[in-house]
Amino acid sequence: MEEKIFNKVGEFQYSSEAFIYKAKLESEGVAVFVRDNHTIDSDPFLSNAIGGVKLFVKAEDYEKAVKIFSEISKFSVDDEGKLIKCPNCGTEKAQLLTTVKNFKSLFSFLFSFLVMALPIYNKYNYKCENCNFEF
Ligand SMILES: [Zn+2]
Repeated sequence: MEEKIFNKVGEFQYSSEAFIYKAKLESEGVAVFVRDNHTIDSDPFLSNAIGGVKLFVKAEDYEKAVKIFSEISKFSVDDEGKLIKCPNCGTEKAQLLTTVKNFKSLFSFLFSFLVMALPIYNKYNYKCENCNFEF
């Protein structure tokens, strides 16, 4: 068996999401490798079929990358990477109702994140940390 050099840290439906995380990881000194982003950019409908845009990091950086993910996943961003604003009070502290508490829940969070990217689930995804308004 070959030694596993790269570990997958995340999958994203859109490459714009993937690059937000990539930029953050790189700013923390973690080398990031993106797979399948060109395929998806040329045909977004392929994204689900091939499992989305995938981010890989070196095995030695994996735990650090997961930790960074859990930190930046705390507040939700839209497709352009801007923090989602509460429509009630305007605070940019919208949280996905699924919150990340540990490594294990990070993966279920990422999964639910992908699932909730479907329009049908888009309505009540967020809760404002400031006024508790759900939207
Ligand atoms: Zn609010």
